[in-house]
Amino acid sequence: MKEEACSHIEAISTVTPPRRRECEECVKMGARWVHLRTCQSCGITLCCDSSPNRHASQHARTSKHPVIASAEPGERWLYCYPDDAIAEF
Ligand SMILES: [Zn+2]
Ligand SMILES: [Zn+2]
Ligand SMILES: [Zn+2]
Repeated sequence: MKEEACSHIEAISTVTPPRRRECEECVKMGARWVHLRTCQSCGITLCCDSSPNRHASQHARTSKHPVIASAEPGERWLYCYPDDAIAEF
């Protein structure tokens, strides 16, 4: 982990991978997404802020789950919403 990563990111020792390559909320609504993110507190995979419904950031706010990982193949980074911190892993 990089030095500038926050305490939330530093607390993660094992990164949770996506269970499925789809936004669980968009699937329920029949909506589309752009990129996928996996919550590192509960493991749900949701859509990014470039997607129309922004389910990952909505989930972070309502559930107070701070850190997501990219669920895109080949991307290896974590992001903390409250600290606006990013770290590669
Ligand atoms: Zn943080
Ligand atoms: Zn979504
Ligand atoms: Zn969560």
